Amino acid sequence: MPGKTGDSAASDPLRRYPGSVQPLRPCPFCGGAEVWIHGDIEPKFIACRKCWAFGPTAPTVTQAAELWNKRATPPETNMAAATSG
Ligand SMILES: [Zn+2]
Repeated sequence: MPGKTGDSAASDPLRRYPGSVQPLRPCPFCGGAEVWIHGDIEPKFIACRKCWAFGPTAPTVTQAAELWNKRATPPETNMAAATSG
């Protein structure tokens, strides 16, 4: 906990993790740009504040952000190939 930063950044999830989290893409489901970083629990994950869609979980916030950005793409790739399991 390096110093005090006040509570003005509470509404901006990206400000809570400066430099460690890449810019998050909008929600792939509703297109909402307001996404929430759940970094205080295990595992970490990203959630949309508009439709509450949850992204993939990861051990770190950075990885969760990467997975969210990978998921935030039109679902038109490898849809037919994922039939096993
Ligand atoms: Zn959404």
